[in-house]
Amino acid sequence: MKTIGVLTSGGDSPGMNAAVRGVLRAAFHHGLSVCGIRQGYKGLLHEDIVPMKPYMAGGIVHRGGTILKTARCLEFKEENMQKKAADILRKHHIDGLVVIGGDGSLKGAEALYRQGISVVTLPGTIDNDMPGTDETIGFDSAVNTVLQAVHKIRDTASSHDRAAVVEVMGRHAGHIALAAGLACGAEYILVPEVPFSREKLAVSLEEQMKAGRTNSIVICAEGADDGRALGMWLKERTDIDICMTNLGYVQRGGEPTARDAILGGVLGASAVEALTVHGFTHHVVGVERSRVIYTPYEQAEEKRRTFSRPLYDLAAMLGAAQDEFSIE
Ligand code: ATP
Repeated sequence: MKTIGVLTSGGDSPGMNAAVRGVLRAAFHHGLSVCGIRQGYKGLLHEDIVPMKPYMAGGIVHRGGTILKTARCLEFKEENMQKKAADILRKHHIDGLVVIGGDGSLKGAEALYRQGISVVTLPGTIDNDMPGTDETIGFDSAVNTVLQAVHKIRDTASSHDRAAVVEVMGRHAGHIALAAGLACGAEYILVPEVPFSREKLAVSLEEQMKAGRTNSIVICAEGADDGRALGMWLKERTDIDICMTNLGYVQRGGEPTARDAILGGVLGASAVEALTVHGFTHHVVGVERSRVIYTPYEQAEEKRRTFSRPLYDLAAMLGAAQDEFSIE
């Protein structure tokens, strides 16, 4: 193997640059050339391919976003486009590809493998719900961003005797909501995995406030309910002063935490080892109990992190108000 390609795809996440740096540094260490493919699969189809130089790995480890840029590319789901992309990689003599991205990007990588390309995937998404790993690059940073915001929101909510509904990302998975809710001591955590009743939540909130609570934090994953609509409904239904905040895209940005910068660097370097030293051709490079693991695509689903119901129940106990609104 002489030349590897690297791209970032799907939603960006803090730590992607650390992963790109890991790929570059390890590749140059092994005497390889590296091509950076800009804007994910879209850039690949447009041959937006640039030779990477060692200096390009400098000064990026702490930066959010991705220096390679990212994109969503619907046409890449078509087989003829995947064939075209594989031909472009061959034309540029790229013998191995590192794809850094989420679930969708992994499917794209699998398609390239079916077209005869050696490709490994790094889990780069804030959602923490990818096959083949316990943890994704960006999750810890997103959780910490939520945490800092909630601390500020709690200050103002408690000054006004308000309850605050804070909507966080997580359309299909409640990992961010659960981790941030646990860390900030949220009274209520709403996740897609556990159905809840608005009515029971309203009753519980009223009881808690009557009992003397001066504020309440409701962390609401976007897949559980629309935070703003829920807040409006609670305002109408109860006498409680409610404020709503949708944290939105701030959760994707910002510098990575130490944990994500380390994870990105370790997995980036391990991706190069996977392609060169181990000769892996279609693997997710992830972590299991803090150790790097390489899992073939067809087995990776078995290693998807599942939502921890026991941890959720613990959060409910610690939040002290939660068991009163779940509909289970
Ligand atoms: P995030 O979790 O942050 O949203 P993601 O990688 O899941 O990241 P997607 O938009 O789902 O983000 O996917 C990124 C890109 O991967 C898509 O724009 C498309 O180019 C490619 N892709 C997604 N699904 C498939 C598929 N089934 N087959 C081939 N390519 C796909």
